[in-house]
Parts: sequence; structure tokens; C-alpha cells
Amino acid sequence: MTKETVTRIVCFCSLLVLATASHAQDVVKFYRQMELANHAARRAIILPPPEYECPYKGALHITRAPTTTDVRIACPGYKGANEPLGCAVRTVDHAHCFVVLLEDKAIKARGYEPEDIYRHELAHCLGWKHDDSQSASQCK
Ligand SMILES: [Zn+2]
Repeated sequence: MTKETVTRIVCFCSLLVLATASHAQDVVKFYRQMELANHAARRAIILPPPEYECPYKGALHITRAPTTTDVRIACPGYKGANEPLGCAVRTVDHAHCFVVLLEDKAIKARGYEPEDIYRHELAHCLGWKHDDSQSASQCK
């Protein structure tokens, strides 16, 4: 093997490593962008309409639950098929609202922000329903 051949092989291998590293960075960048897009999409679904974001004037009772099973047990009216992250039930006179929230660590493990789940449930205390046609905001 001549010195020139060795040099060519070293150069080729160096270019291959650089190309692979560059491709790996592109793949990492792509997945990071997808992750951010998924996170933004999840937030858009969870966050309530702005007209349901104001302080709750009644008595707010918050309970934290360690698992989604505990949330489901504490939220007998929950009809969703997914693992519930929280629920809210207010009294007919709107004087009290009972909120159950999954613990922060478990919420984060599912890719959500605890603050977003709190805002979601608080909006239910303020009259928001997933079916907007039945909602009546208490923020006015
Ligand atoms: Zn909800």
C-alpha cells in the first residue's frame, strides 16, 4: 500500500465520518423539531379558550392524585377513553369547585405541563365545557 493510497483512505474515512455526523445532527434536529411541534399541538388541545381564563371567585378545592387510576376513581363522571390527567366538578351554585389533578411528575411523564392541566381544569370551574355550545363563561 503506497503512502498516497493510505492518505486517500484516511481522507475518505474522514469525509464519511463528517457526513455521518452531519446527517446525525440533521436527524436529531428533525426529531427535536417534531417533538416541539407535538408539544405545541398537545398544548393547543389542552389549553382552554381565553374567555375561560380568570380567577375563580368561589372556593377552590384541589386534590392531587398519584396515578391516572386514582384520578379516574376520584372523577366518577369522567367518560373519556384516555388516561385522565385531571377533572373538575363545580357545585350548582358555583360556590365551590373540586379539582383533581394528577401529580406533576406523572403529568410531565406524559409530555404535558402541570400548569396547562391546572388551567384546563380551572376553566371547567369557570364554565368551560369541551362542547363549546354548552359553555357559559363565569369570567364576565
Ligand atoms: Zn376537560
